[in-house]
Amino acid sequence: MARETAAQRVERIKSEKDGLSVLADIKEYAISNKEIDPEDIDRFKWYGLYTQNKNLQDDNDETLYFMLRIKLEQGAINVDQLRCLSKISEEFARSTADFTTRQDIQFHFIKVIDLPEIFERIQNVGLSSVFAAGDVPRNVATCPVTGIDKDDLYDTTYLAHDINNYLRGNPELVNLPRKYKIGISGCSKHCMGHEIQDLSFTAVKIDGEVLFAVSVGGGLGSNKKIALHLGYVLAAQVLDTVKVITTVYRDHGLRKSRKKARLGHLIDEWGLDKFKACIEEKLGFELIKKPSFKATPYARREHFGIHKSSIAGYSYIGCAINGGHIGSKGLADLADILEKYQATTIKATNTQNFIVLDVPDKNSEKLANTLLDINVDARPSPFKARTISCTGIKFCKFAVVETKDQAILLASYLEKRFPNFDETVSISLNGCPNSCAHPHVVDIGLMGTKVKDEEGNSVAGFELILGGNLEGEVSNFGLKTGIKILPKYLNRTVESIIEQYINSGQNGLHGFLK
Ligand code: SF4
Repeated sequence: MARETAAQRVERIKSEKDGLSVLADIKEYAISNKEIDPEDIDRFKWYGLYTQNKNLQDDNDETLYFMLRIKLEQGAINVDQLRCLSKISEEFARSTADFTTRQDIQFHFIKVIDLPEIFERIQNVGLSSVFAAGDVPRNVATCPVTGIDKDDLYDTTYLAHDINNYLRGNPELVNLPRKYKIGISGCSKHCMGHEIQDLSFTAVKIDGEVLFAVSVGGGLGSNKKIALHLGYVLAAQVLDTVKVITTVYRDHGLRKSRKKARLGHLIDEWGLDKFKACIEEKLGFELIKKPSFKATPYARREHFGIHKSSIAGYSYIGCAINGGHIGSKGLADLADILEKYQATTIKATNTQNFIVLDVPDKNSEKLANTLLDINVDARPSPFKARTISCTGIKFCKFAVVETKDQAILLASYLEKRFPNFDETVSISLNGCPNSCAHPHVVDIGLMGTKVKDEEGNSVAGFELILGGNLEGEVSNFGLKTGIKILPKYLNRTVESIIEQYINSGQNGLHGFLK
């Protein structure tokens, strides 16, 4: 008999028992301490759980540890939730905690025995890990300052809320062909990144009316494509459009290869016209035909600094933390600082940073200054602001190289080397070619790979990718240069790129790198 392919195995596992049903098994495994069926381990993803590698485990420690991702709807966490997550990190995750590029938060060293307690605690504060991973709708990407940014084209809070209500733990969406990423934004800077979502809605003002541009089939990793413009819908049509496209993907998406199973692959197979006709027929109306919109370049998609909120008397503060790393103490300190200055909520961003949403104007400078004590910066250097990194070799089973610590060291090295550099520079460190930290769309991408050292040995290192950019229809993926770098030369290599750019006298790093 022919051996089962990877895709056949996953499809079988999903059809035999769905991912949502594995909660009962998780509780059973936690009580009984019996060995976990490897196929259930695959289903654990539906609750945000991945096994982690054993790099940081003692030789005699046989425990199976997991990474746990908690979904932050619209990126939001309030003070009580920060305290809850800090305690979980301290008690169950060896104080690890990192913000992700999908406005989630992740912990490591999680043991199955602790999961019932962790799930109860997060549920008690209104958080959940359901559908944080697996072949399901992932966290809906949003602009973190929607509704409070004076330049916002549309407050998408309630639309995102409706989409989340539809998606959240929906048993009809438990078995999609692959992961599925939706975004919605009214942001004037297009910070949600519609180009790399499977499905997204971007508010655009046309002839005085706000319409939502529908973009489909974008992605990185196995589906490295810039999303295509499908047309426009009214705000009132967004939810129905989500429902129709999501169910079309569920019912017709390709399932024969894990590498060709995203929405973009279905659109490739059908062609955009057939896909659009199918969607319009099911919707019962035609999408509004207008040309696509001019998107803000990736470099300008940020909300750092102190800004007046559109709610009178309040400000919001866009802050940077290196590589998303916050940890248990950082979460607790952040809760204390928010409380001290009468703020209640932060929202995580898709660059592994966060915004403090609701600071009384009189406290905004004091709060921003206090955040510096915990290494969180409201006026970050260009290097700290936009350097992101994936999980890397400490915990990720696919990684060949360390990323998080190197990202922090790199940003601080560049800050010292170029103290007066004031242009945006985006840098991404990835532990392997899976692109979780988006190396193809930043100025300087570093992708984990094997490289040769001076003695000709194959060792961990990076390949350099240059000149990526998101800018709507004129987006481009960075060029894989073939230049391989040993980690010990990483800082010097990036330094030399910045140096050459400065010496070139050119105006704009992106133009220089392209
Ligand atoms: Fe893991 Fe690779 Fe993704 Fe990094 S890019 S988190 S190493 S799979």
